[in-house]
Amino acid sequence: MKLSVPKESTPGETRVAIVPDAVKKLIAKGVDIVVEPGAGEASHVSDSAYEDAGATVTADAGFSGDVVAKVAPPTADEIAKMSKDSVLVGFLQPLTAGDTATALASAGVTSFAMEAIPRITRAQSMDALSSQATIGGYRAALMVAEELPRFLPMLTTAAGTIKPAKVLVLGAGVAGLQAIATSRRLGAVVSAFDVRSAVEEQIQSLGAKFVKLDIGLEDAEDAGGYARALTDEEQQRQREALAQVIGGMDGVISTAAVPGRKAPLLIIEDAVRKMKPGSVIVDLAAETGGNCELTKAGETVIAHDVTIMGVTNLPATMPDHASQLYARNVENLVTLMTGEGGALELNFEDDIIKGACITRDGEIVHEGAKKAAEG
Ligand code: NAD
Repeated sequence: MKLSVPKESTPGETRVAIVPDAVKKLIAKGVDIVVEPGAGEASHVSDSAYEDAGATVTADAGFSGDVVAKVAPPTADEIAKMSKDSVLVGFLQPLTAGDTATALASAGVTSFAMEAIPRITRAQSMDALSSQATIGGYRAALMVAEELPRFLPMLTTAAGTIKPAKVLVLGAGVAGLQAIATSRRLGAVVSAFDVRSAVEEQIQSLGAKFVKLDIGLEDAEDAGGYARALTDEEQQRQREALAQVIGGMDGVISTAAVPGRKAPLLIIEDAVRKMKPGSVIVDLAAETGGNCELTKAGETVIAHDVTIMGVTNLPATMPDHASQLYARNVENLVTLMTGEGGALELNFEDDIIKGACITRDGEIVHEGAKKAAEG
């Protein structure tokens, strides 16, 4: 099997799908690796580092492999460069990017979405949603600290005592838990809210307070461990109750998401109005519509003297470790596709291979992607 690593073309995408450590591990399994020149540049991986690890760096490498390993979804031009029956591995946004799935099916590409890998124990080492969300949560906490015109930790100085800042994390999934841990390390007093009551213990174990809203809402965890979408009425009650809590915060990091849907609206304008002047909201859900009513994706807006940061693709702001972790996820998935002597072997009886597959034999085979493609 030949695996190729293109340079990412999406503006602002600094990550690369395979780093030299993964090159060495895959070569040891009999896989040949070809890398497009400059593919790792933005992640501070030089062409010579790939060559030293055993890869071939050539100009036409990008989409020439039996398997193409990417980070961002491919553009139409990139799909046109792939040969029929080639295999693509990457973030494909299967639940929302119906056009990408349609184009991949028409091109005859067998594609696997990192987002669609089942979240079972055996697949933990391939869980790119988690590895990248960890980075998002960490960076979001740093952004609050950086942007806030106040200290995060409590300080006792000769010039007086500074009270610690209060940070609220909305959504305590992978990103939220990392945001809690990082904000705590920086000295903030942290509280967190989620609709899944299973996270209460996790929030508390990180030294944060679990916010209970008195709105008569039962646990909203679905069978897959994700949050279910709330009804309009439940959401309304939640937003109003949260506005009171948010009003007392210096910083809010919002990460609430429901797979394949627009992000739930949790922070209404009235909540922003209630915050102290100078406070900061970092909205990690900006790309899917935002958890805050005033969020603008990719922009920082100031409203009611509160800074609202509609951050997108935070993992790309820390490409070295983002690529290192992502490459390990990809390497483990590709290993599952590798047979004797490095041959490509796709076992569609395997839950991971089957679950992650989006297109195959000219068809979209993933239920969520089918729905997205039908619009
Ligand atoms: P996500 O990005 O889909 O959502 C982020 C968080 O937002 C979730 O905790 C969700 O409950 C919360 N949320 C949704 N709607 C909300 C609302 N209206 N108000 C407040 N919060 C809301 O989730 P994720 O971080 O990708 O993962 C979520 C779940 O998956 C967790 O249970 C996690 O433990 C589990 N998980 C399992 C594995 C595994 O077993 N291998 C790996 C990673 C994550």
